[in-house]
Amino acid sequence: MLPNSIQWYFPTKVKEAAKLIHKDGIILHGGGTKILEPQPRSSVKGLVDISALGLNYIKVTGNIVHIGSGATFADVVAWSRDKKRLTVLSDSLSHAASTPLRNRITIGGSIKDFPMWSNLYAPLLALDAKIDIIGERSGIFSLEEYATSPLIKSKHLVREIRVVEKHDIRSGVKIFHVVRFEYPIFTIAAACTMDKNIVRDARIFVTGVKKKLVRLVTAEKVFRGHSISDELINSAANQVSLTFVPDYKFGAAYKEKVAKVYFKDLLREIKESIR
Ligand SMILES: Cc1cc2nc3c(=O)[nH]c(=O)nc-3n(C[C@H](O)[C@H](O)[C@H](O)COP(=O)(O)OP(=O)(O)OC[C@H]3O[C@@H](n4cnc5c(N)ncnc54)[C@H](O)[C@@H]3O)c2cc1C
Repeated sequence: MLPNSIQWYFPTKVKEAAKLIHKDGIILHGGGTKILEPQPRSSVKGLVDISALGLNYIKVTGNIVHIGSGATFADVVAWSRDKKRLTVLSDSLSHAASTPLRNRITIGGSIKDFPMWSNLYAPLLALDAKIDIIGERSGIFSLEEYATSPLIKSKHLVREIRVVEKHDIRSGVKIFHVVRFEYPIFTIAAACTMDKNIVRDARIFVTGVKKKLVRLVTAEKVFRGHSISDELINSAANQVSLTFVPDYKFGAAYKEKVAKVYFKDLLREIKESIR
């Protein structure tokens, strides 16, 4: 339960909202699906609603897709399917939670919260997304830097996510969950920048591991400068080492085994898409 004395704020300017959260106990409210869990509830004194900040948008300027932090998972899925753009995002986000929850969960709340079961992070990291934040630290950062540095812990408002859309990219995502609407146990996403059938660059990320996220740097190196073959996929998979936390459903070693299978399936799908 929230304390009865909770104060709601409804700013209409991003700067105003960013200033409000400097005060102790005042936090942003995106979709509100996680807001009370991380903090001891009595410490929350005020909630800053972001819905009047004009951040619920998805727009394209040149080859950059801008996803406002107020856009919901459902908004992104609908946009991506309608425009047939960044389909790796709709492929992943359409599996998150349930329809009512996807209608509420925002991009900003999910980025700041970064749950272990995130459907959002792995595809965005594979696509080398950038993040625009304002607060204790302000500016545009790579999402990878944001998620792996103290930046994510600083007090800030996520303004938007930016993804450069490239025609020569082949990407995909695999999610391991017990049933379709269950939390992902892990999510693995890959994006390969192709020069005809040669991989110029590869970015492969897994979320849901012990360290929350891992970049498969060694596997990426295996593909760079080569065309993707079954031999290369097997060789890269052999070099993948993932540390998971065991839970009541699966042991850590089992999760790693499944992750390697999913890794191979994902790269095979990318290989097929190049033909
Ligand atoms: C039953 C259930 C199942 C779920 N299953 C999945 C799933 O399968 N996959 C998945 O990816 N997610 C899933 N989620 C969602 C996930 O666990 C979080 O609840 C969600 O990502 C939080 O987003 P929100 O917009 O609701 O954020 P909020 O709850 O509003 O806020 C979360 C945190 O982010 C901060 N915040 C909010 N907006 C911003 C902003 N613009 N800038 C900076 N900080 C901000 C808040 O202050 C708070 O600290 C599930 C949630 C529930 C309840």
